[in-house]
Amino acid sequence: MYLSKSIYVRVWSCPKGAWISKYYPEAVPQDEGKMNRFRTGDEVGDLARGLFGPSVNVTAYMEDGKLDLPRMIRNTEEEMARGTEVICEAAFSYEGLYCAVDLLRKEKGGWAIYEVKSSSDGLQDKYIADVSYQKYVLEHCGVKVTGVYLVCIDTDYVLGPEGLDVRSFFRINDLGEQAAAEQATVPGVLETAERVLSSEEEPQTELSEECKGCELFPWCGRHLPSPSVFDLYRLQKKKMIEYYRQGLVSYADLDKAGVIRNATQKRQMDYFLNDLGTYTEPEKIRKFLGQLTYPLYFLDFETMMPAVPFCVGTHPFAQIPFQYSLHYIEHEGWELKHREFLAESGTDPRRAIAEALCRDIPADVCVTAYNKRFECGRIHELAEIFPDLADHLLAIEGNIVDLLEPFQKGWYYNTEPTNLTYI
Ligand code: SF4
Repeated sequence: MYLSKSIYVRVWSCPKGAWISKYYPEAVPQDEGKMNRFRTGDEVGDLARGLFGPSVNVTAYMEDGKLDLPRMIRNTEEEMARGTEVICEAAFSYEGLYCAVDLLRKEKGGWAIYEVKSSSDGLQDKYIADVSYQKYVLEHCGVKVTGVYLVCIDTDYVLGPEGLDVRSFFRINDLGEQAAAEQATVPGVLETAERVLSSEEEPQTELSEECKGCELFPWCGRHLPSPSVFDLYRLQKKKMIEYYRQGLVSYADLDKAGVIRNATQKRQMDYFLNDLGTYTEPEKIRKFLGQLTYPLYFLDFETMMPAVPFCVGTHPFAQIPFQYSLHYIEHEGWELKHREFLAESGTDPRRAIAEALCRDIPADVCVTAYNKRFECGRIHELAEIFPDLADHLLAIEGNIVDLLEPFQKGWYYNTEPTNLTYI
């Protein structure tokens, strides 16, 4: 068996997930968000290479672009023998177990493992499993491991005008004790990996609370009726599993058992089971619409959350608005017009977007946004950064009406097309 650290962590977290990734990789979603996370991981990983001064990267590729593992292992042996202080992607293999250490750092009497994550939380159990596996492989390769660390992003860091300070940007967590304590569990996970991954038979795993947020839920829940207890609006995960285990899976099961008491959830079931179409509360909707006045503006922001800040004064993962779409109607019945803003790539977009908002939206008009907390939050931040525009920006913020409200409060609901139009 060949096992990398990512497969090990997958097995540790859910053996069935690892099995699906091996036998049905097409079931694993590859969306843009995931690709972005990979790109961010690469960017942060590259940055961390400078954390302890000069380093040697032993990554090697074959002609087809795949990693050349044997060459990486040889390169690592050579660099270790040479006494290189920091080796990036230091590669090791022991009886089919393989790992590449993000940063292997020479210490007095041995070597320290540094695993780099583009995350702000360095104490996640899966990270401990990850470094524990690395320690296990290295020690079985005869390396004396004198330290195990996790390098993650310090979200308190603020980018100064002098540029990025790599040492302050990262936070180093000592996971030595946790990795030592976990060593005893590694053989058990390896055994599970061997048993599950060598069989073409899909593991029979009961759905659990963790499943609801898992990207493989559509696969593992393919036997469920649609809709099912897992689709009920804001039903706690614990309750979903409890009902599921009791055999209350479809809306008909739940309705018959009479266990759902929440009015919104009951309506969701009722409208589906009786094919009732659209539910409305006209009085409440009328009152909501009554607060809208012309000229009427419809605002929608796009933001980015760079892990590595590039705007002075911002933290890692700060929401930076860089684009908006603005529709507006000047008088009732008039045509819908449109304005937009898109920042120039590679620049700090905040001043330009703040000025554009003040130019495009008068301070005394009604503005709508869907889930206004988001738009209001960004406009408020811009007002704090640019005091000369603050009055105008705060006036826009104060004039925003939230289009989410009628849906969130259940004043409008229809079962088409997904049976899940509640937000
Ligand atoms: S949905 Fe559940 S069983 Fe399936 S892979 Fe995810 S966590 Fe594992």
